[in-house]
Amino acid sequence: MSSPRPLPNRYPEDVEHLDGAALGELRIPVCHSCGQEFWPPSPVCPADFGTDVGWVSDPGVGTVNSWVRFHKRYFAGDDVPYTIVQVQLDSGPRLTTTWAGEEDPEIGGPVAVTFREVGDGMALPEFGPVTSQ
Ligand SMILES: [Zn+2]
Repeated sequence: MSSPRPLPNRYPEDVEHLDGAALGELRIPVCHSCGQEFWPPSPVCPADFGTDVGWVSDPGVGTVNSWVRFHKRYFAGDDVPYTIVQVQLDSGPRLTTTWAGEEDPEIGGPVAVTFREVGDGMALPEFGPVTSQ
């Protein structure tokens, strides 16, 4: 039996994002000066260098910009192979995240956020295809 994958560190700049994910909410940094959402978290807006930044609850919808499949086990507990996608959020930022779909991602295909519980009350956002119902 493999040991579990290590949980994310709760670095100060990530706490708001991780606490949101635990509640099923995709929290993304936003600049209160220019309104731009951005990623990764930073105390400075990358668009206008403003320092009045906060967080918003993002709808978590976008499209696949790129993806890659990892076959190497970098952490004990990694279930290989696994797929990582770069998602272009409709709100602007690009997130590199885990793929939750069963099929290969489709470049340009619509995706939406889901959350996977990883233990200790933590959850992580991942993205999968938007399925028409
Ligand atoms: Zn700004």
